[in-house]
Amino acid sequence: MNNTATPHNDDKPFGYYEQNTRIICENTLAKPKKKRAITIERVMEMCERDEYEGICIACGEDAEGVEPDARKYECESCGKEKVYGCQELLFMVG
Ligand SMILES: [Zn+2]
Repeated sequence: MNNTATPHNDDKPFGYYEQNTRIICENTLAKPKKKRAITIERVMEMCERDEYEGICIACGEDAEGVEPDARKYECESCGKEKVYGCQELLFMVG
């Protein structure tokens, strides 16, 4: 009864796969509390969409219904008055 289900995975040690799995899990399950980076690319895209979006500079979450020149709107995610419209954000990150 020799169940030889030994995977022939090149010759990488098992820990290698375990590690990779963990990294993938963290990426897909990564959730809210981690602040999203506010990059110039992200702000530019937001401006181009022109859909009244903004970003909270406290937690990094997107906000909706924000005029491009809005300042200090209340964030729905963290409750702080740190939501800025895309034009304002351009000045900050640009
Ligand atoms: Zn926030």
